[in-house]
Amino acid sequence: MPKFYLNVAVDTPLNRLFDYLPLSDNHRSDYALGQRVTVPFGRTLKSGIILSISSNTELNAKQLKPIAELLDSSPLLCAKDIALYKWAASYYHHPIGEVFAQSLPKKIRSGKLLSVELTTLYSLSKNSLSLKESDIKRSPRQATLWRHLKEMSQPVESDSFALFDWDWRSPLKSMVKKGWVNVSQEHIQPVTNIDTPDFTPNPAQQAAIDSVMQSADTYNTFLLDGVTGSGKTEVYLQLIQQVLSSGKQVLVLLPEITLTPQLAGRFKKRLASHLVISHSGLNDTQRAQAWLQFKQGSAQILLGTRSAVFTPMQKPGLIILDEEHDASFKQQEGFRYSARDIAITRARNDNIPIVLGTATPSLESLYNAQHERFKHLTLPERTAGASHPDIHLIDCKNQQLDNHLSKPLLTSIAKTLARNEQVILFVNRRGFAPVLMCHSCGWVGQCRRCDSRLVIHKKSNLLKCHHCGVEHTVPTTCPDCQQAELFPLGLGTERIEETINSHFPNIPVTRIDRDSTRRKDAMQEVIDQVQKGGAQILIGTQMLAKGHHFPNVTLVGMLDIDAGLFSCDFRASERMCQLITQVAGRAGREEKTGRVLIQTHHPDHPLLTTLIQKGYASFAKQALIERQQAQLPPYHYQALLRVNAMHEKAVLEFLDDTQQLISQIQLGDVSILGPVPAPMLKRAGRFRYQLLLQAPQRKPLHQFLSTLLPAIGQLKSARKIRWSIDIDPIDLY
Ligand code: ADP
Ligand code: ZN
Ligand code: ZN
Repeated sequence: MPKFYLNVAVDTPLNRLFDYLPLSDNHRSDYALGQRVTVPFGRTLKSGIILSISSNTELNAKQLKPIAELLDSSPLLCAKDIALYKWAASYYHHPIGEVFAQSLPKKIRSGKLLSVELTTLYSLSKNSLSLKESDIKRSPRQATLWRHLKEMSQPVESDSFALFDWDWRSPLKSMVKKGWVNVSQEHIQPVTNIDTPDFTPNPAQQAAIDSVMQSADTYNTFLLDGVTGSGKTEVYLQLIQQVLSSGKQVLVLLPEITLTPQLAGRFKKRLASHLVISHSGLNDTQRAQAWLQFKQGSAQILLGTRSAVFTPMQKPGLIILDEEHDASFKQQEGFRYSARDIAITRARNDNIPIVLGTATPSLESLYNAQHERFKHLTLPERTAGASHPDIHLIDCKNQQLDNHLSKPLLTSIAKTLARNEQVILFVNRRGFAPVLMCHSCGWVGQCRRCDSRLVIHKKSNLLKCHHCGVEHTVPTTCPDCQQAELFPLGLGTERIEETINSHFPNIPVTRIDRDSTRRKDAMQEVIDQVQKGGAQILIGTQMLAKGHHFPNVTLVGMLDIDAGLFSCDFRASERMCQLITQVAGRAGREEKTGRVLIQTHHPDHPLLTTLIQKGYASFAKQALIERQQAQLPPYHYQALLRVNAMHEKAVLEFLDDTQQLISQIQLGDVSILGPVPAPMLKRAGRFRYQLLLQAPQRKPLHQFLSTLLPAIGQLKSARKIRWSIDIDPIDLY
């Protein structure tokens, strides 16, 4: 019998480690925490990570199986990385094995043995530098390559020769043979020419840079609160430059894939360093490579979306999280974590600064700034002479609308186009219209599997459910009364596109939503097209609100914001004000002043008037007071237990049992709200209920959950349902 047991995190929903025996010919010294293994699990093999090694087991040692394979001779993850994963699993009350599985790149977790791919670089050797043109002129192709390499003055990759439309391989080979060209294998991309800005940071930027750099070697969270176009990115660049020059690495987190190429381009132009990118649009190999290079320290900057927050750093120096208010930092299924909150924990563990940048801080972050947990840095003015946009409300009450567009808005669009400037129209829904209705009997296209309406997509002639994905062809007659009097109700991006096309037939119109940008590179093409300039109209959903830089847009119209004024979700007003401010920030970013027109039927709504007359900061201040009075986050802490099943009865049975359990646990300060049906009771054929747990402090809530959740897992009625726990939920759906 061995004298030790391996305690392995395996990708399963069971929240514990699994004990395995070592391989028979191995010694204790062959094993270390953080190594990957494959293990027999049920009838399959699964990959896992050794999280501890113990000298005894609670199980019958004779029944334990040995691992199938030891994948790493030295640990893939170090103690610090493991500690972060363990913290995340315990904070989010999520099975540790799944936490690893869902946050490591697939190729890394599936146990492939990987090494960093090397790049082949070519450069002129010393002796060929002293050659003269005339020495090589007998071989014109070699001469061309020689001139090219000489001009580049730094090692180049082979794709640098792609500009030659002849076979450059054989002349290059001859030059290598002659010792004229050196070939080297490197981890690192060659550094291209670096731009230096033709301006110096303004006083607000400089103050922000100085504050962060003063605590470069200690943990601190900085909230960089700067209006759109105030030069936040410039602050990031300067900070990164300084951190890199001290030999450390920088992790940069963004909410949205489509923003990465734009920002990566800007970074590469300014920073002489090896930068890697990680997001879900890349293939498995690319993601694994980025992960490895950052972990090993050959890449100095990692630019990534949510899951990149887990990438190990060789020499941690700084974390930057841009658009910190953005909901996409929260994973909404499976392992429900907040990349922002994990990033802050990481910075604290690594004792480095973290900068949270935004023009519209979340109420959570403002609260933390008010309580001096975060340091509040502000950039109040737009740079380079750009002024704040004018925001106006268009009262749509009793106005004749032309397919949802008001006269004043149409007139403004026409004037903007006449000046050869660009327009953004913001619509909150993709598709043509959210409802198809029968004029003679009132029939409405409903999803059979969800409590929701089917959205009309005219381009593809489909009725689609945006919740479960069901699609039908659009009927020509009413399924109930057979009359052919079906009409669309409400607006979507496609419908506005159609109306705009009829008003401005000669103007290029681009639609930007999840349908139109599904194709890879589609978003980049849109951005390129817009940056070419000229009169154009962009119609898009909130995808448009995120960080893109469109210098020629001087008019933004918002068409359907009223729903946000009357939502039952207590965060709806915060989201709406962030959205309006962000969308408005797309207008007039350079020397031209921007104008924002908001169509509403409630121009006197206090939320709108506060936001427009006094700005986001005033709205936020007021909203925080209301949250405190209503005992809501960030003043109170929440966790949401979600339950669903095909049969409503199974859900109710489980909830009865859960309440029984709850009645046996000391509640302390924890209050229980519900159970109640989810705002959308039925979705994808499953009935959904929820139970909200809330407490004025974090600790009692988590203690309560630590007792409740394992007991829930043991319930017999739990086998017929699916449940999940969402810590600090940001969406009560
Ligand atoms: P944000 O990230 O806050 O939206 P950016 O950093 O993108 O703002 O800055 C907006 C524009 O202003 C960019 O074109 C940037 O190059 C320029 N800029 C930034 N800082 C300054 C400065 N101090 N002086 C002049 N121009 C600046
Ligand atoms: Zn009908
Ligand atoms: Zn559906």
